[in-house]
Amino acid sequence: MIAAAALGVAGAAQAKSPQKGVQYVAKSLKPAMNCANCASFLAPAACKVVDGVIAPAGYCMVWSPAPKK
Ligand code: SF4
Repeated sequence: MIAAAALGVAGAAQAKSPQKGVQYVAKSLKPAMNCANCASFLAPAACKVVDGVIAPAGYCMVWSPAPKK
């Protein structure tokens, strides 16, 4: 078993979904829905729930609107 610490993420050691599992694309086809305005986006290039490098212009099937500031 791989230790959670090996993930190298400071703090949270939660498992993330692989990009393929949530149909992530680096370029959203929906103008109003992209990672930059998703509740799970972590600027500049990551996501709370999807693994790997995440583009602000990307999109996946678990997109949800970021709370209005
Ligand atoms: S749309 Fe949201 S949940 Fe999906 S990869 Fe982008 S930031 Fe993460």
